[in-house]
Amino acid sequence: MNIKKVIIYGAGTMGNGIAQICASSGFDVVMVDINREFVDKGIATIGKNIAKLVSKEKIDKATADKILGRISTSVDRVYDADIIIEAIIENEGIKKELFSDLDKNCPEHTVLASNTSSIPITNIASATHRPDKVIGMHFMNPVPLMKGIEIIRGRETSDETYAVVDKLSKDLGKIPGVSNDFPGFIANRILMPYINEGAWALSEGVSDAVNIDLIAKTCLNMPMGPLELGDMIGLDICLAIMNVERDGFRDDRFAPCPLIEELVANGNLGRKTGRGFHDYSNR
Ligand code: NAD
Repeated sequence: MNIKKVIIYGAGTMGNGIAQICASSGFDVVMVDINREFVDKGIATIGKNIAKLVSKEKIDKATADKILGRISTSVDRVYDADIIIEAIIENEGIKKELFSDLDKNCPEHTVLASNTSSIPITNIASATHRPDKVIGMHFMNPVPLMKGIEIIRGRETSDETYAVVDKLSKDLGKIPGVSNDFPGFIANRILMPYINEGAWALSEGVSDAVNIDLIAKTCLNMPMGPLELGDMIGLDICLAIMNVERDGFRDDRFAPCPLIEELVANGNLGRKTGRGFHDYSNR
């Protein structure tokens, strides 16, 4: 199948990044969210990112206009595309409701991809009558900058669907790696314990947030410390992933540190709310 049109569900951290790279690679894109405010915020973020590329002379103004011109938005559900990439809230029930609706209304050939960080693709596919066309496309944050993408094959994902998504990933300039369908796949199986252990070190008083991140970067050569990385991903997303892993493996070694639960319960979700492990209000 030759992909021409892509619909992205979710205009948040990941959705607007995915929309940007799809449009930059020449695809027509519709970005959908549940209300106008979220859609506008997503478009504004893409506009800022593209303007930065122009100011750094990585692209010219005419190219920037073409990219932005390929993106339209909707607050109503739309279905007419060769592939849907879902990047909504990390909640199995809500994702399944969307996939069931997409399955009923999208053309027969449409591939349904999820950007889930942790929820098994086979579970999401079970809400549809086309499990062979359901697949995981796990982009990394920030989407325009990160090279890799994790492709997850559900139990019934067909070879044809895999080939379509593998090609699309390469057309988007990404390096695809493949994972089987386990909670958290490869990336978050490895990453979440890093962030969680940072949270435990902080809550037990091993050191403060600045020093925990500093030691991880300068002594362990990590590009980001566990706490600043958790703040960048969003602590609500991290908490949801840790819960999926703990429940999916029935193993408490994946259980979230109570400090993460407390921050999320108080609305301190990281950079996106101005406060998480660190305070971003002055930045
Ligand atoms: P986010 O909270 O920034 O954005 C989610 C958006 O989805 C919100 O704007 C919300 O209004 C919208 N939404 C919710 N329900 C919807 C629906 N039914 N239809 C349309 N839009 C809906 O979240 P995010 O960080 O962009 O994460 C989105 C997905 O990507 C999650 O599954 C997450 O696990 C995954 N992911 C996140 C990261 C990360 O670093 N944040 C990395 C990789 C994957």
